[in-house]
Amino acid sequence: MIKFKKFSPPTEGEAITVKDGKLVVPDNPVIPFIIGDGIGPDITNATRMVVDAAVEKASSGKKKIAWYEVYAGELADEKFGELIPEDTVEAIKHYHVALKGPLTTPVGKGFRSLNVTLRIVLDLYACVRPIRYFQGAPSPVRHPEKVDMVIFRENTEDVYSGIEWQQGSKEAKQVIDFLNTTMGTSISDDSGIGIKNISIEGTKRLVRMALDYAVSHNRKSVTFVHKGNIMKFTEGAFRNWGYEVAREEYGDYTITEDELHEKYSGKQPDGKIVVKDRIADAMLQLVLTRPEEYDILAMPNLNGDYFSDAIVAQVGGLGLAPSSNMAKDTFVFEASHGTAPKYAGRNMVNPGSLILTAAMMLDTIGFKEADALITKGVAGAIEQKTVTYDLERLMEGATTVSTSGFGEKIIENM
Ligand code: NAP
Repeated sequence: MIKFKKFSPPTEGEAITVKDGKLVVPDNPVIPFIIGDGIGPDITNATRMVVDAAVEKASSGKKKIAWYEVYAGELADEKFGELIPEDTVEAIKHYHVALKGPLTTPVGKGFRSLNVTLRIVLDLYACVRPIRYFQGAPSPVRHPEKVDMVIFRENTEDVYSGIEWQQGSKEAKQVIDFLNTTMGTSISDDSGIGIKNISIEGTKRLVRMALDYAVSHNRKSVTFVHKGNIMKFTEGAFRNWGYEVAREEYGDYTITEDELHEKYSGKQPDGKIVVKDRIADAMLQLVLTRPEEYDILAMPNLNGDYFSDAIVAQVGGLGLAPSSNMAKDTFVFEASHGTAPKYAGRNMVNPGSLILTAAMMLDTIGFKEADALITKGVAGAIEQKTVTYDLERLMEGATTVSTSGFGEKIIENM
């Protein structure tokens, strides 16, 4: 039995375990949660209320989440004098699945970002964001209902590794001198330098996760989104390694776009996922003009950052955007927005992002009926136009409800 030093798990509830690479989930799984800073308590409390109601209803009372509060951010600092206590990291590792509210990064405490720190410490190498439309949500495009995509964004490499040197620094000068004198480049002396690194392992583990998801959720295609025409040995290699994984490890489940046309006359055979790739700039048009042709997207870190926000905007923005950071057997589910401090404690903001994130968490642990109930509840609340202020101001004839009120509307509509 694992021992925690500062805060203990609930006495009821059992741990989720991993067997043969798969989660084994009891009926009453212990799920650690970080309440979060700013609006964290508002949205986390509403989310737990909705999750509990969905799990209870879907299982007729047989299943129940045993919530385990663990600490990070301002509350952890206040209670324990540290921003991320060891217990929190150990609890997430031990219980495998956690829910997290947004965290502020206090200035001058030696952390670049608590969120990034957690991702690094737990090696959460994929950021996964399902993006779909809810009828009635405000959208800037004519056919938002055609959007139903899941982005798998690589989370640890690329220009996001933070390997960079400021213009004028000794290090930047050293790197520039080395490259110009021994590698034949002609980089201007007054440049800042950043490194773009993309590895075989980093790419392949992400692509495996995307393909596993596509197989287990009967999705139609997986598209690698890259700028390999220009950045051949990083983004181009990402594309090539992606195809290698699809061919060598998922050959029974996948065909390429060429095979689709040459062998199957363009008609997708049942049970096969089409693997394709698109250049990122063209893809930014395609997600707007032909979104129905895209399904699962796998991409390097920077592309993933751009695409997540661009596609989410089509379906109503961040208030309805779930997100999770995952490793092979560690999953941290979190809202895609921040702590919105000016609304903290006002029971006002939209909990939709964290609620849909929690629905994704339920899908991941196999509580699929509860996931479906939450999705139905959110759809119902939006269709009835009973929404929080952020959606109300963009919708005609809508009624504003509070954070907890939106949660209650979702429960009513399950
Ligand atoms: P933010 O907290 O996402 O808020 C920016 C604006 O987005 C808010 O003022 C509000 O807009 C809208 N918004 C965000 N969440 C909303 C919700 N649930 N419902 C309705 N509207 C919502 O971004 P920020 O102000 O740049 O960042 C604040 C802090 O959050 C920073 O300390 C940052 O480091 C942190 N942060 C944490 C995470 C994370 O934990 N994963 C992610 C991003 C940022 P209106 O004012 O127009 O209504």
